[in-house]
Amino acid sequence: MTATQKQRISDKANQFTESVIREMTRVALQYGAVNLAQGFPDFPCPPELKRAACEAIEQDINQYAITWGDKAFRHAIADKVKWYLGLNIDPERQITVTCGSTEAMAAVMLATLNPGDEVIIFEPYYENYGPDVILASATPRYISLHPPEWTFDEAELRQAFNERTKAIIINTPHNPTGKVFTREELNLIAELCQKWDVLVFTDEIYEHILYDETPHIAMATLPGMEERTVTINGLSKTYSVTGWRVGYILSNPELTGAIRKVHDFLTVGAPAPLQRAGVVAMQLPITYYQELAKRYQQKRNDILQILDRVGIPYSIPKGAYYVFADISSFGYKNDVEFATYLTKEIGVAVVPGSGFFSQSEAGKKFIRFCFSKKPETLAKAEERLLKLQSNL
Ligand code: PLP
Repeated sequence: MTATQKQRISDKANQFTESVIREMTRVALQYGAVNLAQGFPDFPCPPELKRAACEAIEQDINQYAITWGDKAFRHAIADKVKWYLGLNIDPERQITVTCGSTEAMAAVMLATLNPGDEVIIFEPYYENYGPDVILASATPRYISLHPPEWTFDEAELRQAFNERTKAIIINTPHNPTGKVFTREELNLIAELCQKWDVLVFTDEIYEHILYDETPHIAMATLPGMEERTVTINGLSKTYSVTGWRVGYILSNPELTGAIRKVHDFLTVGAPAPLQRAGVVAMQLPITYYQELAKRYQQKRNDILQILDRVGIPYSIPKGAYYVFADISSFGYKNDVEFATYLTKEIGVAVVPGSGFFSQSEAGKKFIRFCFSKKPETLAKAEERLLKLQSNL
């Protein structure tokens, strides 16, 4: 007798698709395209970080660190958060070190959400948030950000909050649009979170990549918000080490207890020698961040000039390292068709906009360019993109 075949794939896994961003990187490699798809720098990290990582390995820091993070690293994070954000974080009770901010967001949700809970997500969004909510058995509730400034409608947001709302996700500076949430916007969100007793999961991984003197405002610094805000961050973007997989979470002691348990059973811990190198990262002087912002400002200006020359309209990013561009004038059926053409025929890989929306229709006139690249990479992309002009 043979058993009836069981459904092998979980309902949760069936609810979301493969990451479009990571898929585009694979296609870029296959076609030898300049990769302006996935969000990683193609230039080296600071040399002192490399040295610190090598030294840590030489010094045999090769075994498990404390599950919620190397002590020296947690203390260095607390010191850096104090000077940059002005927050007093207890490194013993309020920090969890994770395998990237990707694991951080998943661990936070698994530690706080229950079936029936709703999580508000602004869209377009960084594509991990929806699957994270689903994996945590909760329900995403999407609120639109509207171009060109990617603002939200106050009435729509007010309506989205209800008894089931457990949390709202903020990502500022924002991937993919480059939006930086203003104090006024954050105040409104804070008011609603306090009214409905809602947590904020704020992804501030681009906190140092800001343009045109735009200030970064951390939700945890708003009056009455520190206790209900979970701040997610990591080394990936600020220190150009996306492959190191080191992230961290700041949260109140009660939430930290639950998050640390989930994190422990998910991964045990983040790479020990790289956390040691993270101490050096956290201790870099303020001039490091000033230089970083200056270098990115130049890259941002360069890519906008390239897009102007090619004739692709866009929203000007105020932060992060992406441009969300409007491709409707090129006459392609949708974003996927255009992005595929761009990768295979023109030789520049980008991410189709629909990957950032819950309904692919909403993203069909957008593509995302990542510009955290060397000047020569951007120059090569320009050379190829100029071929597009003949299609206009
Ligand atoms: N959050 C946002 C908004 C991102 O854009 C990215 C990467 O592109 C991540 C998180 C992933 O960060 P990490 O490398 O720390 O997992």
